[in-house]
Amino acid sequence: MERVLNSILSQHNLGIVAIAAVICTLASFTTFLLVEQVRRESGYRRAIWLCVAAFVSGTGMWATHFIAMLAYRAAGPVAYQLQGTLLSILVAIVMTGLGWWVSLTGHRRSTVLAAIFIGAGLSAMHYIGMSAMIMPGRMRYSHDLVVASVAISMVFSFAALSVRKRRLASNSLILPWPATALFTLAICGTHFTGMGAATMVSGEPASGAAMTGAGLIVAVSLMALAVLTVGLMAVMAERKIQRKATEQERKLDTFADAAIEGLILTDGISLKKANRSFLDTAGYCDIAHCPTTISDLLPALSDERLPGMSDRGPTECELITSTGDSCPVEVLVRPFEDENETLSIVAVRDIRERKEAAAQIAHLAFHDVLTGLPNRAVFSEHLSEALQHASRRRVALLCLDLDGFKGVNDLYGHPVGDELLVETSRRLRNLIGEGCLVARLGGDEFAIVQVGAHQPEHAERTAETIIAALNEPFELQHQLVRIGCSVGIAVYPADAQTASDLIKNADLALYRAKSEGGRRVRFYERAMDEAMRERRAIEAELKLALGRDEFSIHYQPLANLATGQITGFEALLRWNHGTKGAISPDVFIPLAEACNYIETLGEWVLRRACAEAATWKPPLRLSVNLSPLQFVPGNLVELVGRVIDETGMDPGRLDLEVTEGLLIKDPDKAVTTLCELKKLGIQIAMDDFGTGYSSLSYFRLFPFDKVKIDQSFVHEMLTNPQARAIIRSVIGLGKGLEMSVVAEGVETEEQLEALRADGCNQVQGYLISRPGPIAHFEKVVIQSNKPEPARRTPPASVKKAARR
Ligand code: C2E
Ligand code: CA
Ligand code: CA
Repeated sequence: MERVLNSILSQHNLGIVAIAAVICTLASFTTFLLVEQVRRESGYRRAIWLCVAAFVSGTGMWATHFIAMLAYRAAGPVAYQLQGTLLSILVAIVMTGLGWWVSLTGHRRSTVLAAIFIGAGLSAMHYIGMSAMIMPGRMRYSHDLVVASVAISMVFSFAALSVRKRRLASNSLILPWPATALFTLAICGTHFTGMGAATMVSGEPASGAAMTGAGLIVAVSLMALAVLTVGLMAVMAERKIQRKATEQERKLDTFADAAIEGLILTDGISLKKANRSFLDTAGYCDIAHCPTTISDLLPALSDERLPGMSDRGPTECELITSTGDSCPVEVLVRPFEDENETLSIVAVRDIRERKEAAAQIAHLAFHDVLTGLPNRAVFSEHLSEALQHASRRRVALLCLDLDGFKGVNDLYGHPVGDELLVETSRRLRNLIGEGCLVARLGGDEFAIVQVGAHQPEHAERTAETIIAALNEPFELQHQLVRIGCSVGIAVYPADAQTASDLIKNADLALYRAKSEGGRRVRFYERAMDEAMRERRAIEAELKLALGRDEFSIHYQPLANLATGQITGFEALLRWNHGTKGAISPDVFIPLAEACNYIETLGEWVLRRACAEAATWKPPLRLSVNLSPLQFVPGNLVELVGRVIDETGMDPGRLDLEVTEGLLIKDPDKAVTTLCELKKLGIQIAMDDFGTGYSSLSYFRLFPFDKVKIDQSFVHEMLTNPQARAIIRSVIGLGKGLEMSVVAEGVETEEQLEALRADGCNQVQGYLISRPGPIAHFEKVVIQSNKPEPARRTPPASVKKAARR
């Protein structure tokens, strides 16, 4: 160490040493910037920048060495051998070039190896340069200092490389000052230790072409400065360009990230870039976590398929997300020319929502919104297909209709009705096996298509299970609700050859099940067709019957039980069909209700009965039945008032009979109408009590004048204690509410006696008299002046309704 310091201080011109140090520092700084540039480049640009770095570091080192040599005060004139000097430059350039290259290979020991190459190059350059000196003597070297100089060159090079590497890892933009200082120490340390190792001894000076003179200092310094300046400027310019490019890229990235659509850049093999939206769609928080192989993300875009997609419009394909699920996307591919390769820019649109909406719309088109069951369209399609492919198998069609659904809707409201339908659908779905289709056709109508060889037994079993299941109470909005279900079955090919006939026949069977009281299953029979045709014919003829004068009124007396006296008559409509004879009101009244004809018919009965009763002597009471449908139009009070005026009937003698059904739907409106009728002086009777919902609350809603116990109770009163108990309680109720109680359908003396014992006021039934024309009751009542004969031409309102 002492020798080295001694050598520097006593044998060197310190001013020139300072110049060497400045050049060395500048060279080291430039070198590290250049090496950094090499690291950033690839391909041929990397090779060029590596050569520049090698040249700058090699010449910089050499210039430091050479100027420091010139600072050496030798014991005589010194010249430099040209070849040796050039060789030393060449060694410096090549060895440091190799070193920088190794340092960038990324190898585990790259820094150590690079330091060895650079250190070796530095030492070799120094000693070859020394040997190229032409002096009046010969150099003798101290071996330990030579070794030390080589060690210094390598250790400080290693330190410089390590520091730079570590600092770059944390911040790529940082300037290389610590590395520059260490590398400057490596160069200077090697040089001055090498100089300290050398002692001049007298001997023969070397011979050959030589360079001499003090001007060399200036020349070499200027040359070195020129090289370094050019290198520095080049790297600065490149950095500026790159910063601009980076800035540009950052702006583009921001721009791309602002796009709603996903954007990626790919060569068909790897993912080069992706914007925020794409990463969000694919489920990655940043690009570092995203797969780099395009086939792992968008299999449809990989390699050879990509170029073909460039001139196409949007294409649907699958995106594999971070969870491994596939997400439907739409891609638009366009070529993208980069500096040295052709890439594709791909716009990726997430179409999950669009697909879901489309699926939702498709679902709505084919499913019932309330219950989610397939709708009529799906049912028709499915049935036709089932018939087409039936070959030797049979197809059973089960048509279902809920019993009492309307009552639930009226009594509890539509939300409960809806819930009932949903729950019914759930039960049906659970009961129906694989391969069967259950559809909601509308309202409370359902249909099941069942294919199989074991028909109709299978269908019958299914129907019975369904009836049992729907008989179980439903708990809806904290209330227990009970309904029933009727099923009609028709089987292909036995019952029909086409889908529409099969539906029609299953409907006929359902109609039969309903008309027999519901809660049962009925199979289609040919006779049902006949019955239906008959029904249609009657419906058509019903509307013509008034004009044909086929209607008349029969009267059935009501008697006071205590006195046995007849107090009044109930008007009962009769239809004497031209060819079919008498048709029961139990048949044609429901038909008239179904085809909106009851209003016309009811008005006719009221007018005719009042006109007849107005003439009775003595003026006994008259009861007229009103259908709930006559309350619907809202003009009933006005109509009744008009009829009373026109016929001269005393409203105090008139009873209007209504059933419980009237009070179920819109009870407020019904009660208002009944009150207004009562104001006319008319009495109101509750007919057929006990057959409907039989709620005592009806009597709280409206003060009825009379209650008529349905004949089914009277028929059973002697055999069924429950029927008797009900009769007694209605009689008790009548007493409490000051209503007269009429027992209908009294046929035997025993029944009459029992009713008398129970305290009933009035009776009506075959025991007293069957209904008949008023002339049959001449002993009781006579028509003082015969009313006008029935008009051949019906009134205007009748004609209007008949046209409907
Ligand atoms: P309803 O109002 O309960 O009339 C009583 C029915 O019971 C009548 O049948 C009558 O003939 C029958 N009947 C009377 N006593 C006995 C008996 O001792 N034993 C038996 N087995 N039956 C008896 P009808 O005349 O066939 O009428 C049936 C139903 O048709 C009536 O029942 C009523 O609901 C309806 N109806 C009849 N005429 C009219 C009308 O002008 N307007 C409306 N809206 N409905 C009517
Ligand atoms: Ca009646
Ligand atoms: Ca009745």
